Amino acid sequence: MQIYARVVTDDPTDKELDYSIPPSWAGKVHIGSRVKVPLRSREILATVVALVDTPSVPEPKIIAALTSERPILNKSLLALARWMAEYYCCPVESAIRSLMPEVIRKAKLGFKRERIVRVNRKIPETELQALQGKAPRQAQVFRFAVEIDEPIRWRDLQQRAATTDRTIQQLVDRGLLQAALETTDRDPYANQRFISSAAIKLNEDQQKALEMVIQSVDAGDSHPILLHGVTGSGKTEVYLQAIDHCLNHNLGALVLVPEISLTPQTVERFKMRFQTDLIAVLHSHLSQGERHDEWHKLNSGRARIAIGARSAVFAPVQRLGLIVVDEEHETSYKQEETPRYHARDLAVVRAQIERCAILLGSATPSLESYQNAKTGKYRLALLTSRVDDRQLPLIRVIDMRQEYLKQKHVPLISSSLANAIEARLTGKEQTILFLNRRGFATSLVCNQCGFVCDCPNCSVALTFHQGENRLKCHLCGHATLAPRKCPKCSDPSIRYAGYGTEKIEGTVRKLFPSATVARMDADSMVRKDAYRQTLQAFRTGKIDVLVGTQMIAKGLDFPNVTLVGIINADVGLHMPDFRAGERTFQLLTQVAGRAGRGDMAGEVFVQSSTPFSPAIQFARHHNFEGFWEQEIEFRERCEYPPFLHLLMIHVRSEHQRLAEFTAETIHRRLGEQSDPEVTLHPVVPAPIERSKGFYRYQILLRSKAIRRLSATVRSILEKLTFPEEVHVSVDVDPYQVL
Ligand code: ADP
Ligand code: ZN
Repeated sequence: MQIYARVVTDDPTDKELDYSIPPSWAGKVHIGSRVKVPLRSREILATVVALVDTPSVPEPKIIAALTSERPILNKSLLALARWMAEYYCCPVESAIRSLMPEVIRKAKLGFKRERIVRVNRKIPETELQALQGKAPRQAQVFRFAVEIDEPIRWRDLQQRAATTDRTIQQLVDRGLLQAALETTDRDPYANQRFISSAAIKLNEDQQKALEMVIQSVDAGDSHPILLHGVTGSGKTEVYLQAIDHCLNHNLGALVLVPEISLTPQTVERFKMRFQTDLIAVLHSHLSQGERHDEWHKLNSGRARIAIGARSAVFAPVQRLGLIVVDEEHETSYKQEETPRYHARDLAVVRAQIERCAILLGSATPSLESYQNAKTGKYRLALLTSRVDDRQLPLIRVIDMRQEYLKQKHVPLISSSLANAIEARLTGKEQTILFLNRRGFATSLVCNQCGFVCDCPNCSVALTFHQGENRLKCHLCGHATLAPRKCPKCSDPSIRYAGYGTEKIEGTVRKLFPSATVARMDADSMVRKDAYRQTLQAFRTGKIDVLVGTQMIAKGLDFPNVTLVGIINADVGLHMPDFRAGERTFQLLTQVAGRAGRGDMAGEVFVQSSTPFSPAIQFARHHNFEGFWEQEIEFRERCEYPPFLHLLMIHVRSEHQRLAEFTAETIHRRLGEQSDPEVTLHPVVPAPIERSKGFYRYQILLRSKAIRRLSATVRSILEKLTFPEEVHVSVDVDPYQVL
């Protein structure tokens, strides 16, 4: 009986194809193996998804190559990909593709092999003395190698013993040293030393939470646990101890954190607790080689803990015992390209498939997760106070309308915030100023004719960046020199409207000339390592005031920060997005949580022109429950998630008519379906009608039965053929509605 391999190719074919396994590879091709197969006149990469006895075609072609001995994917991950394709309405091959980093998928890069030197034979002092007499340089290098007492790279030995290749080779020839090519890891953290930290004695709430998690780990119970703990309540400590329990039972763990909080500080906390080589870190700043090695460290089972951002939900942790999703409410878990998955939701599904425990943690849980906890779908663990009973910071809301009445204009920094900064400078304490908008001004507007500098590719205004004297588009990256006079009417009085972090930085420097000020946002942090250096300078007290975007909102823990100023809480609050209130509440709470994490109490100033909006008021009173109750009522009344699922179809094209026409066609087909559960909304232009040169239209659908709706949409789209210049994509449970 011959066995055939059923594969899904990396190229879009949307069919599973059968190939025969040559006898020489019998027993070596497994489900999850990566292979090369002939298709038409080419050879392409593919993933084996099943082994079958009878092929679906009479004489299948033969597999051309096996790219690795060990299967790259396991059955659980393949099952996750199938779930993903179905739920998120995407082709199976694109779901399978996203299971592997590109460097693994393409299989072009191998392990790094280096010459490693070891001491082959220890010799008595007399013999060493003799060598000293004959060949003093060799003796010195040999002594050095003995002293180090561990294998060392040839290159490193040569450098550190200040010697030559020849001297080392002579020692090898003498049989004193031994050199061999060995596989070594490209370790992104090779140059760092980590001081080990012991487990902290947990408080009562933490202990209860930990026990709940341990029970699930031991039972292989994938019923999610939501850990709701205010900022600084010791959630991370609970994660660490739960993972320690896993390791003790020979189980692995996966920790997801938002990319933005995957800071050196976060990684350090894990590396300090566990043996560093048990941990693999996956994030976007690794080199291809490092990513390759970190991934294989997990797949081979040498590393037992994976820490990473969104796509690490697919990390090949062996014998998974626990998945932790930190800051589970974070919208960056949502992938905004096909397949548009949500990593938290996938983590919950993966836990079910792998029968492991899953813990979702947050200071401000998403409405979806909290609702699940309320209805009993999730279990809830609460950490009600900060560790050691540190106080939550006092939050003051500054009514910027009053400032306007007093000063006849709206200042960037109100007098009360300025006074508070002054007091911190005197007291040698630190301040964080937060504004969720980078650049110097939001736009350039002509006083004379009202002309606004818009992006030629997108329907948004360009943002002025003073440092470079450029106008930039924050959507497509288009950049141009800032004009000196109005491009339309030539009036020289063109001025800046709005403001961003760069302007705040300038204002603070002007107000407090003696203060050291630094800025942290996507513009100032382009240089590699700038992020770590700035944080390090801030930690060591070299910076008094740190100005930044959401890059500084999350996860940072600086005991000397006693003041946080939120320059404009209204940014984002008045967007046409049903989650605007939730996002503002979360952001304010998170930013405020950066204050008062040491022994000194923290203070937060929130500047707003709509100081009585509920998101601001509830955040001010640290009242999550209150916010949740009023927000969930709004969602129910207006039929938004978590009461219904949304599904958004995006259509874009460089040709407006084509885009609109295609959207209308899809809409008509959808209208012919009569599912009483489904609400179909009309075709509308996207709020940002044009982006990166594309005209955009969208169709929104709502339904309680999302799986059924996904299936319907998928079958309709499969049957339609679209002109080449039109892109159609589906977003299930969308977050970006702009
Ligand atoms: P969160 O993740 O909820 O923001 P962390 O786990 O970062 O909180 O804890 C905040 C700080 O308190 C950390 O420095 C941590 O080491 C410390 N900590 C955590 N648990 C305890 C405890 N039980 N006793 C004393 N300190 C603790
Ligand atoms: Zn643009």
